[in-house]
Amino acid sequence: MILVSGCLSGNNGFYNGKIEASEPVKKLVLENKAIPVCPELLGGLKIPRERSEIKGGTGKDVISGKCRVVTEFGKDVTNHFIDGAESVLTLAKKYKAKRAILKSLSPACGCGEIYDGTFTKVIIKGDGVTSALLKMNGIEILTERDLLKTENS
Ligand code: SF4
Repeated sequence: MILVSGCLSGNNGFYNGKIEASEPVKKLVLENKAIPVCPELLGGLKIPRERSEIKGGTGKDVISGKCRVVTEFGKDVTNHFIDGAESVLTLAKKYKAKRAILKSLSPACGCGEIYDGTFTKVIIKGDGVTSALLKMNGIEILTERDLLKTENS
């Protein structure tokens, strides 16, 4: 079993309610090969909500307490992101998931690249909070972009 971002499966929308699912991910869920999870919703945030980014670091830094996740209007939502990441890890352990396909660039789900916390679409190297926690626990993370590369190669 693998975990996938809920928004990629069409199970839930993004922070603004917009739905933009990935067809290969939807197929995995329909075939009962993947479980959709949304760390931000599991962490207690709602749809719609303010856009969030990690300020001054990466998901790993958030987990170690070195930086925070804030909304575009300056609200600190770090605890929601940590609670959501821990909930996803609990589900990964429950379903013995060794792999997850998560939404690129998200402050929760992003893998390898995230926005820099300035809300200006500048990208830096690093993982979102959930991806970082899953990686620390030996779970392999791919993004929907990696899936497309695999399909096109
Ligand atoms: S990117 Fe992750 S946290 Fe954001 S809406 Fe999608 S599943 Fe939820």
